[in-house]
Formats: sequence, C-alpha cells, structure tokens
Amino acid sequence: MSLRIGHGYDVHRLVEGRPLVLGGELIPSARGLEGFSDADAVLHALADALLGALALGDIGQHFPPDDPRWENADSMDLLRRVVELAQENGYGVVNCDVTIIAEAPRLAAHLDGMRRRVSEVLGVTPDEVGMKATTHEGLGTIGRGEGIAAMAVVLIESD
Ligand code: MG
Repeated sequence: MSLRIGHGYDVHRLVEGRPLVLGGELIPSARGLEGFSDADAVLHALADALLGALALGDIGQHFPPDDPRWENADSMDLLRRVVELAQENGYGVVNCDVTIIAEAPRLAAHLDGMRRRVSEVLGVTPDEVGMKATTHEGLGTIGRGEGIAAMAVVLIESD
C-alpha cells in the first residue's frame, strides 16, 4: 500500500452571460466563469491535484483547450476521466480538501451539494470531501470580484 498526495489550483474570470458552475453545482449568479469548458474551477483544481498525486502532468496536457472535444465540456466528465486514469494506475482516492476563493456570490448554501457531487465522481463518501469557501477580503483581482479561484489537495492510496 502506498499513499501519494497532490495539489491543484485554478482560477477563471467572471463574465456576463455565462452560467456559474462550481463543484458541479449550478449557482444562481449574474455572472459566470469564462473558459473553453464549463470553467468549473473547483473540478479543475481537483483534477490537477489528482494528476499531481499521480505525477502525470496537468489538466492542460490531458484536455488541451484547443481540442474541440473539450469545448463547453462538462468538467464532471473531465474529472471522471482523471479518476479512471488513477484507477488504471492502481490508485483510489482517500479524501480531498478544497478551498474556493470568491468575493461573491455567497457559496455557503451550495457547499454540501458540491460535496455530494464531488464524492460521487471521486468514489468516496461526502464526509471524505472537505469543501470550504472564503472571500479575499476585497484584496487584489479576486477581491475585486474579477474571478473565482479554487485550491484542492487530494490523497490517493494504491489498491
Ligand atoms: Mg480551469
């Protein structure tokens, strides 16, 4: 049995005319995240953390943004493929912890929904998924509400 840990970070710009999808949850918001896929920064940070734990590169290498297959992709599908890649390498997820940094909207009411969705795709239980949100205290680009960032840590274990 061996344990490995990985870390992921992602940020997307908030723009008018896009839905806001975080952790697989559609969140009521006047603005959404801009990106080639659905721009779900939580799932992208998790996918990068998992790829980091496996030392298999990053999400941009596995899902190139110039590849039309990933245009408007559901990031749940991207994360599911990375989980399958971990399984092919003999690893399963033990637990994960996510921090979302967003000035607005308030995310507290959506965190449990995100935990459930993330736990299903990672093959763990919701109590093995930490999901937290914080503001950036008005500081810098995230603090001005120009975007939303997410950080994730994932622990994996060989079967
Ligand atoms: Mg991204």
